[in-house]
Amino acid sequence: MDDTPVLVTGANGYLGSWLTRTLLEAGHTVHATVRDPDNTAKVGHLKEAAASAPGRLVLFAADLFDDGAFDEPMGGCGVVFHTASPFIINDIKDPDAELLQPALRGTENVLGSANRSDSVQRVVLTSSVVAIYGDAIDMHVAGVDAFDEQHWNTTSSLSHQPYNYSKVRAEKRAWEMADAQSRWRLVVINPGLVLGPSLTQASDSASLSTMRQFVDGTLKLGAPELEFGVVDVRDVAEAHRRAGLQDDVSGRHICSNRTVSLLEIGQILRAEFGARYPFPTRTLPKPLIWLVGPFSGLPRAFVSRNVGYPLAFDNRRIRQTLGMTFRPVEQTLCDHFRQMQADHRATR
Ligand code: NAP
Repeated sequence: MDDTPVLVTGANGYLGSWLTRTLLEAGHTVHATVRDPDNTAKVGHLKEAAASAPGRLVLFAADLFDDGAFDEPMGGCGVVFHTASPFIINDIKDPDAELLQPALRGTENVLGSANRSDSVQRVVLTSSVVAIYGDAIDMHVAGVDAFDEQHWNTTSSLSHQPYNYSKVRAEKRAWEMADAQSRWRLVVINPGLVLGPSLTQASDSASLSTMRQFVDGTLKLGAPELEFGVVDVRDVAEAHRRAGLQDDVSGRHICSNRTVSLLEIGQILRAEFGARYPFPTRTLPKPLIWLVGPFSGLPRAFVSRNVGYPLAFDNRRIRQTLGMTFRPVEQTLCDHFRQMQADHRATR
């Protein structure tokens, strides 16, 4: 096999960890950037993965805000997987500093290094379905049955859905930079809500806090009628690997298995783990959520434009061009929940 190294940014993150492990298991030399390679809590699991895999792990320190920080880690790499970007949706005080700047400046910084690194042939960017739509109501407004790769989020801003805004701005900038040169090709993966077991307990990913709501009592009285395109973290990692290493891949790829509501997630978990956990058993009326939402982190504009609106994604492109198949959502959710139980037992 080709022994040209590959680079993963944000290699210690929830998704980055699975991607790094998938690449190591496939025998690649992985240049992995993290903010602090000496932080055992953040990188210990990567070293463990490398110890039992045929590939080789080389850790580098790089911050998205340090211009040129990715030049050295990118040295000799053929493919760059750029996953690093904050995925936070609650308690955001300064959306520009906490979300937009790391997403946008980070993308400019990493792709700037790709422009200076002669070995780089391909960049795989982790975007999101939220670069495709802003709110669930957008599907109704567009008059379509499902979003596909032609759609772009035009409704998010720093004051409304700032995470979604950070993703669409970063992806657009990546396309501008890709179009301005001809050596490397940009391939974009647009995952839905990523769930499934985490290799790291030291991630701030909203994926992990979303699942924690099913055990901490947040949804005990009922769930807002909200839908997500859910996808398994292991499948997203595999989609990235294929996007980076398969021939003739280009463009955007929605990476979502199927739409699931918060209530259905509760029902799936309840069927497997029983009623001793506070899984939601009913949906809450929209007017009630509109009233109390702002006190529990759901702004009224979000409630108005998302609660009660169906959501669907057309995933034909990724199935056809990358040959992806997806684990059943039931497996994703139950494996994730089992890992949370195991982590909880280990820390008691
Ligand atoms: P995560 O676990 O929080 O990973 C984010 C990664 O970005 C971490 O490695 C983090 O490093 C790194 N990072 C943040 N700020 C940085 C900075 N200033 N400099 C260097 N690294 C920085 O979240 P995730 O869910 O795995 O998200 C990974 C990617 O997938 C993101 O691009 C996200 O937008 C995208 N995505 C996620 C989902 C999902 O449902 N999870 C869905 C679609 C797209 P530290 O550990 O040092 O903070």
